[in-house]
Amino acid sequence: MKVVRTVAEMKAWRSARAPGRRVALVPTMGFLHEGHLSLMREARRRVPADAGELVISIFVNPTQFGPNEDLDVYPRDEAGDLAKAASVGVDVAFCPIDPQEMFPEDARTWVYVDALQDVLCGASRPDHFRGVCTVCTKLWNVIRPDVSVYGEKDYQQLTILRRMHRDLHLSGEIVSGPIVREADGLAMSSRNANLSAQARADALAISRWLGAVRARVRAGERDVATLLAGAAAALAPGQIDYVEIRDAQDLGEVERVEGPVVCAVAAWYGGVRLIDNAVLDPG
Ligand code: AMP
Repeated sequence: MKVVRTVAEMKAWRSARAPGRRVALVPTMGFLHEGHLSLMREARRRVPADAGELVISIFVNPTQFGPNEDLDVYPRDEAGDLAKAASVGVDVAFCPIDPQEMFPEDARTWVYVDALQDVLCGASRPDHFRGVCTVCTKLWNVIRPDVSVYGEKDYQQLTILRRMHRDLHLSGEIVSGPIVREADGLAMSSRNANLSAQARADALAISRWLGAVRARVRAGERDVATLLAGAAAALAPGQIDYVEIRDAQDLGEVERVEGPVVCAVAAWYGGVRLIDNAVLDPG
């Protein structure tokens, strides 16, 4: 597996691909877990070794963290990440050595997706999706993937990137992979490493509550206010940032579950902000 440290080297590698060879990309912020690896396996399935190359990026993008967020304590383990990536057949890991090269101090160009970026996570993390969209645009320009794979764990991010991809007539295809969970239901996240044992145990309330909402929709409940009532008690002692049910396609507000919706949660447990969601289709 090749490790690439600079934009120039990454562009040169891409330009040297033989015509007809495909490139798959899985962008990450590292501290890889089974959720990330499942996306890499999916990317490898779509671009097998005889058809092209699988590239991942590992870059903790400072522009998607707010001033009081966890950039400084975001977990990192590059050596471990590279070993895991190699084990699932990654060909190239793009690990920019200098954040300044990705975002020079005098960079003045940002990409954002109107409206979709202002709700859910965007309401409490105002510049977050601007950072995500801009870094993904840069990665796509440098790596020019035929396929890029994103997790449904970050449902709003996936929705925004799909819209950006469509609106800007970007090339290649966006593919998503399902949420990978620990055996006890906790959605895998690099941030789980920062949970105390108590906070981790408490955080199981999220997947439990999402499962209960799913069961109630299956049993026929359609009223969103009724479905959301009691969330604060169910998620305690977590501090809720938001719990919402929105249209699964455009994240618009809904009062009743009449088509596919996403039930999305963000909550702090022991100072760690976790997100999770369930897509609910009344059928
Ligand atoms: P991150 O490193 O957190 O920026 O995530 C990189 C990619 O992995 C994103 O597309 C995430 O949606 C995806 N991802 C993170 N956690 C999971 C998970 N538990 N299951 C599936 N995909 C995930």
